Amino acid sequence: MQPRDLSDHVAYQAGRGIEEVARELGRDPSEFVKLASNENPHGPSPAATEAIRETASSVSSYPKAAHADLVAAIADRWDVADEQVWLANGGDGAIDYLHRATIEPGDSILVPTPGFAYYGMSARFHHGDVAEYGLSRADDFAQTADGVLEHYDGERIVWLTTPHNPTGSTMALEEIERLAAATDEETLIVVDEAYGEFADRESALALIEGRDGYDSRDDVAVLRTFSKAYGLAGLRLGYAVVPGEWGEAYARVNTPFAASELACRAGLAAIEDGDHVERTVETARESRERMRESIDAHVWPSEGNFVLVDVGDAGAVAEEMQERGVIVRDCSSFGLPGCIRITCGTDAETGRAIETCNDVLAALE
Ligand code: PMP
Repeated sequence: MQPRDLSDHVAYQAGRGIEEVARELGRDPSEFVKLASNENPHGPSPAATEAIRETASSVSSYPKAAHADLVAAIADRWDVADEQVWLANGGDGAIDYLHRATIEPGDSILVPTPGFAYYGMSARFHHGDVAEYGLSRADDFAQTADGVLEHYDGERIVWLTTPHNPTGSTMALEEIERLAAATDEETLIVVDEAYGEFADRESALALIEGRDGYDSRDDVAVLRTFSKAYGLAGLRLGYAVVPGEWGEAYARVNTPFAASELACRAGLAAIEDGDHVERTVETARESRERMRESIDAHVWPSEGNFVLVDVGDAGAVAEEMQERGVIVRDCSSFGLPGCIRITCGTDAETGRAIETCNDVLAALE
């Protein structure tokens, strides 16, 4: 017996941790800073840490109330019904649930390239095919309805990432609305807002609920995660907000106990600690502007907690920056050669990233 042949899957490249890199290079972990996975430089909210501590002694029981409490808090935050919140094991888990709910064997999804690899990987698990629409470097990775429609051919799901990983570009709500109106009734537009808290634009949830002058739509879903602005990446907590009529489908697609009691309790505390999120977003905004101004290479404008830098030989620059203690992401794995992505850090981390990047660029010239 052999596992399925999944060799046509594009692997999701998880960033390596500081411990792993330090061990491999035979160095001390304290020499490194990791700005490669868009994590929160301030860590989790102290309230979330406290909630984890308080929950620790009860983890011998299956999750119960925390699911309902957290779902209610999320629904309350977005002013939607509880049933519209599909809690999951990270944003990745929410991607998977949406595919389980929609893809029949042979159906296709449409994804951006460059883009986040897990959309395609998950679709293929469900025997779906993957088609791509390109974001053009010459156009600064602009996202428009026409740019997507040019490649659209009746796919089941169209994935939008806004802010987009790894470029930081966004799509205007008017464009998302235009796209949804132009696609078939059987197509769901999923707006991945994993980095939504950092954006200057409002959430596409306005389209689901018909707020702020938009008509209510039943063909748009939004994905969010606690891994970025909330600093809970290690707990694996995310969710999708789906159209009202979709609520019931959740019971048929979710893994029993979609999220752990620890994750739910911490998530609940994190939502309530608005100051921590605000501080995190402020730090990211300052950091990305500073990197744009001070790195001696082209840095694209970004509404995420990271910036994309055009460095030429991305492999060599990322390796040399790592050698000098700053771990960044070579974007070849996103289908974007020649660029590195640097996560926004604290003031000190940002200063170190800028200095190291500039030194390496000068040394490799
Ligand atoms: N969507 C995008 C665009 C992402 O960058 C990520 C995380 N890297 C996710 C979804 C998944 O988020 P999570 O880590 O919560 O699974």
